[in-house]
Amino acid sequence: MQSTNVLILGGGPAGYVAALRTAQAGIATVLVESSQAGGTCLNIGCIPSKALIHAAEEFHKLGGSGAVSRLGIRVDAPSLDLGRLNEWKGGVIGRLTAGVQALLKQAGVKVIHGEGRVLDGKTVEVVPADSDGKPTRIVCQNLVLATGSEPAALPMLPFGGRVVSSTEALFPDKLPNSLAVVGGGYIGLELGMAYAKLGSRVTLIEAQGSVLPNWDAALSRPVEKRLRDLGVELLLDTRVHEGDVEQGRLRLASAQGDSQDRQFDRILVAVGRRPRSREAGIESLMLDMDGPFIRVDEQGRTSMRQVWAIGDITGEPMLAHRAMAQAEVVAAAIAGQRRRFDPSAIPAVCYADPEVVVSGLLPEEARTHYGDVLTASFPFANNGRALTLDAAEGFVRVVARREDHRILGWQAVGPNVSELAAAFTQSIEMCARLEDVAGTIHAHPTLSEAVQEAALRALGAGLHG
Ligand code: FAD
Ligand code: NAD
Repeated sequence: MQSTNVLILGGGPAGYVAALRTAQAGIATVLVESSQAGGTCLNIGCIPSKALIHAAEEFHKLGGSGAVSRLGIRVDAPSLDLGRLNEWKGGVIGRLTAGVQALLKQAGVKVIHGEGRVLDGKTVEVVPADSDGKPTRIVCQNLVLATGSEPAALPMLPFGGRVVSSTEALFPDKLPNSLAVVGGGYIGLELGMAYAKLGSRVTLIEAQGSVLPNWDAALSRPVEKRLRDLGVELLLDTRVHEGDVEQGRLRLASAQGDSQDRQFDRILVAVGRRPRSREAGIESLMLDMDGPFIRVDEQGRTSMRQVWAIGDITGEPMLAHRAMAQAEVVAAAIAGQRRRFDPSAIPAVCYADPEVVVSGLLPEEARTHYGDVLTASFPFANNGRALTLDAAEGFVRVVARREDHRILGWQAVGPNVSELAAAFTQSIEMCARLEDVAGTIHAHPTLSEAVQEAALRALGAGLHG
């Protein structure tokens, strides 16, 4: 039997950040992780997906078929060494996970590699991964649940055979000739587009009437156009009715009542993620829930004293930066500091082509909350930097309160707009008004000039159109 002040179950972005912070505050901390430090994000999520997307883009840029590009660069037909690509991706992951392990060690966190099981709000039993599997019990004063999430399966299409989740799709040993992607959300778009750029024939099946259905049509339209340009077959308003996992056969049914039978080499199911909130003994604590998520207050407290929860198990948006921000708050609360998790905006980025960023309120949401609002868009077609990048698709849009011009939201679609997320979110957190952004000198030529121009347009004072 061991004892500690803080025991954190799960070493993803939520768990490892909380562990670093409590240990740095001088609090005895144990982190239990069954797989790899860094969790979904570093090992099977954010990082490998962005590496694959980058590699696919580089390959695609070379012309794929050896065509002369618009920029006058001629290349012979490139070929793809998937083994080398996976090795490089593994190297990026290895560097980051080793970095996290080093930080944990430096901070004095005791890391136990093993499967944890909650026995009660103060006791966790761990089956170590690296010994004879003899379980040990750890007693703690503060239990932090950070067990994250896993891919959700469709009942008629369980994972196995030709049906894979993002985890397998991130490390392909062979490129499928034909790939069905079920779900046109973050993962479906990011990985579906990457596979299309690497040379697979991709069919994207989305139940709703557009991809990224939680956002408005202006944001999804440029992505849908690019999907079609890449040769991706886009089946909207379509669901999988039946599936044959071994043969890769799907019976698809459209909202209009049509049905078709199709066969694919591989099927990627990306219809959302399921929080690990009712397993590993957590269910025995009978915590208050919000649907499948553990209910927490603004400091990450659950309904049981000194049991805390952070990250994907606590709700949407299931994003790494939200998990890390929650972890900071919980660690501060355990250290006795007054902090709340009460962000004005949590940015969301879909690394599709073009990229999409949303921070704060969409125009429709702002109208619902505030009635009359100002919105204005500035197209990248009028931005010098976008033209020099040969990527003039997309726009930046701002949403502000009409009465005092306070900025409520930003959205952008376009090249590398993920990097605008910080400026968008800072302006919202700092309660900036349109005049603050419009009056800030933005470097030329940069994509960020479109941010200033959108603010100017909203004020009726657009400069470049
Ligand atoms: P996780 O990262 O899931 O970590 C939970 C950890 O707990 C895991 O390591 C698991 O092994 C461990 N664990 C679970 N149960 C036990 C147990 N009983 N005992 C011991 N250990 C246990 N988010 C972004 O913000 N940006 C992106 O670009 C992005 N891209 C993504 C791409 C993909 C393909 C996927 C799948 C996800 C992506 N996400 C992205 C989401 C992001 O990965 C998650 O929001 C984030 O990892 C959540 O962090 P977490 O710590 O809550 O959970
Ligand atoms: P998602 O919620 O983003 O998208 C799921 C899509 O599947 C939706 O468009 C939905 O309408 C569709 N769908 C649901 N059931 C369907 C069905 N039966 N047939 C066809 N379509 C169906 O989920 P995801 O893409 O699996 O990603 C899971 C989560 O992982 C995200 O919500 C996000 O939290 C995280 N993630 C984030 C990033 C990022 O930040 N860039 C990238 C990848 C994943």
